[in-house]
Parts: sequence; C-alpha cells; structure tokens
Amino acid sequence: MSAAETLASSVRADAPPAISLKGVNKWFGALHVLRDVNLDVSLGERVVVCGPSGSGKSTLIRCINRLEEHQEGQIIVDGIELSNDLRSLDAIRREVGMVFQSFNLFPHLTILENCTLAPIWVRKMPKKEAEELAMEYLTRVRIPEQANKYPGQLSGGQQQRVAIARALCMKPKIMLFDEPTSALDPEMIKEVLDTMVMLAETGMTMICVTHEMGFARTVADRVIFMDRGEIVESGEPQSLFANPQTERLQTFLSQIL
Ligand code: ADP
Ligand code: MG
Repeated sequence: MSAAETLASSVRADAPPAISLKGVNKWFGALHVLRDVNLDVSLGERVVVCGPSGSGKSTLIRCINRLEEHQEGQIIVDGIELSNDLRSLDAIRREVGMVFQSFNLFPHLTILENCTLAPIWVRKMPKKEAEELAMEYLTRVRIPEQANKYPGQLSGGQQQRVAIARALCMKPKIMLFDEPTSALDPEMIKEVLDTMVMLAETGMTMICVTHEMGFARTVADRVIFMDRGEIVESGEPQSLFANPQTERLQTFLSQIL
C-alpha cells in the first residue's frame, strides 16, 4: 500500500493526552497479564495494538474502560483517573465506546432500539431525539434500511456495523475496538474496516486491537506490539513492519503477513 493511501494525521499533540497509562500492572490470580505498561494516547490519535493470542491486548483495552481493574499504576482517561469511585466509572463509560469481536447486540430489540437504549436510559435523551441520532449513525454506517429488523436477520458484517453505530450514539470521545473483524467471514471484513476508516477520518481517538495490517498501514498513527503482557515495540506502521527491532516482533510478523 502506498503512502498516498494513508490517512492524514489528526493527532492533537497540543492537548493533554486522551488516555494515559503509567506503570500499569495487572494480575489474574498468579498470572501477571499486564507488566509495567506505559502508554500515552493523544487526542485524535489512532493506535493499533497487535500481538500473539494471550499477550494481554484485550485486558489492556478492557482496563481503559474499566471492564477490568488494574492493581498497580495509574490510568487516566479524558482527565479522569480510574478508581473504584462510581462517578468516575459512569463518566468513563459515557466517554468511551467499545466494539467487541462478538457484536453483543440485544437479540430481542430491533436495530433502532439497540441504538437508542443507552442514549435514552444513560444519557436521558428524549426518545425522538435518540431515534433521529440513531438513524443518522445507521445512515453513516450505510444500513438505515435495517433499522426495524432484529439482529438475527442481519449478516455478521451488518451486525458489527450496527454495534459501531450503537457505540457512536453515545457520542463517545474515544472508541476502543477489540478484534472487530475476527469473527467475520472474509467477504464482510472489508465493509467493517471501511466503516472504521470512515470513523478515523472524523478525527476520532481510537485504539484498535486488530491483525488487519492493511488497516494498520492506512489508519494507524502508531502500532503497538504486545507480547506476554508487555509493550515490546511501538512506532509508525511503515517503519515498525519494515524494521522490527526484536526477534519477538519478527516472529509475529512472519506468522501473520
Ligand atoms: P489477548 O487479548 O492478547 O489474546 P487477553 O488479554 O485476553 O489476551 O489475555 C491475557 C491473559 O490473561 C491470557 O493468559 C488469558 O488466558 C488471561 N485471562 C484473560 N481474562 C482472564 C480472566 N477473566 N481470568 C483469568 N485469566 C484471564
Ligand atoms: Mg483478545
């Protein structure tokens, strides 16, 4: 892929970091899953996280919206330090949208209802306004005509686009993606990646766990390679992929490229 196909950067280096992790450690029982992780993500920055299965990628991003708790170190998201204070938890969940590998749509609600549920109940948005907003985002992910169907009537790629629209309906400042295309059939991967590129073009701050290296090359300001709970290498995609500094990254790239 040529440099011409990479997106212009929207990094706002002048603003405080959108996300800041300092000396973060996490254990599951005796298993040390995050080892002294230090990471600042700028406003508008697009970070791709890659690494072998079990290296702690999901745990890292789940700690950022506090689906998991870390035991040591500091995580600050949009100026709010993550702690057990419930108000900070509420604030974070409003600012941070997340899209998972399994789409996690509510099967008994229509597409439109899936998208309006949180804005109505969490953001206290009037129903009509929430529906207009949902239609706007469903149009942006190019499936407005599916609004009154149920998730089971949609393809996997369409469901994942609904999951992205649903997250955007909360007007998050930051979007986290955890392998959003890895459960999809190959012909549906592109439509979801295109939706993510569209989102990147809006200047959204994004952390995406993915092994789609074409996407990383096009979109990422920075790629982070994790192995055994550590950030082993990070850098611009072009240089990181062309000149891996560690044997661990060389081995990983030789397996996926
Ligand atoms: P990745 O997303 O890179 O595949 P994960 O963050 O899911 O890695 O997992 C990191 C390590 O933590 C793995 O060894 C995994 O088995 C373990 N792990 C993940 N979640 C839990 C959990 N809830 N309880 C115990 N161990 C877990
Ligand atoms: Mg994972």
